[in-house]
Amino acid sequence: MGVFHGSACSNCRRENLKLFLKGDRCYTEKCAFERRAYPPGQHGQARTKFSEFALQLREKQKVRRLYGLLERQFRGYVKSALKETGVTGEKLLTNLERRFDDVIYRSGFAASRTQARQLVTHGHFLVNGKKVTIPSYLVKEGSVIEVHEKSRQLVPIVAALEGIKRREIPQWLELDAAQFKATMKQGPKRSDITVPIQENLIVEYYSR
Ligand code: SF4
Repeated sequence: MGVFHGSACSNCRRENLKLFLKGDRCYTEKCAFERRAYPPGQHGQARTKFSEFALQLREKQKVRRLYGLLERQFRGYVKSALKETGVTGEKLLTNLERRFDDVIYRSGFAASRTQARQLVTHGHFLVNGKKVTIPSYLVKEGSVIEVHEKSRQLVPIVAALEGIKRREIPQWLELDAAQFKATMKQGPKRSDITVPIQENLIVEYYSR
């Protein structure tokens, strides 16, 4: 399980992007990035010219933090993507999107990926009728994700579903909030990922 050192908000400021790591807070004026959109620390507002290596490193860190993964886990995804046919960077991103915790977050059953991970490990969701407690489980096209019947009154899940108006459910997922169900209609494609990411820089980082 991914562990963040330091505050989640400083990660957004460091990566110069809202990573939406704190659920509801991210949509309010309390969002640290909205108030201070520059890197944390004494030299945060200084202009910096990044080397090629630094650009690759920042891009890798940004995506790793977005999905809440440890370096070891993230490197594992890059290695698997390298073994697959197709464009490595695209495979990397679409595999990350298919992680069970990501699918739970993207479907609207959790306010953040961190919360989704916790809810998954506590056994609140089923995939095709079977309980799955592994956040890294890769959801397949056509799978039906469901909130366990006993968990349908759970405050974080109810609150997250109430908050879905504020964010967009990706078109590869279909949410039936009344039935506490979501279906992966098709696998996510690169074009479905709207966060600005230059995945080629990540692949270059690991190809050094
Ligand atoms: Fe990032 Fe959310 Fe913190 Fe804003 S509130 S800086 S989006 S984690």
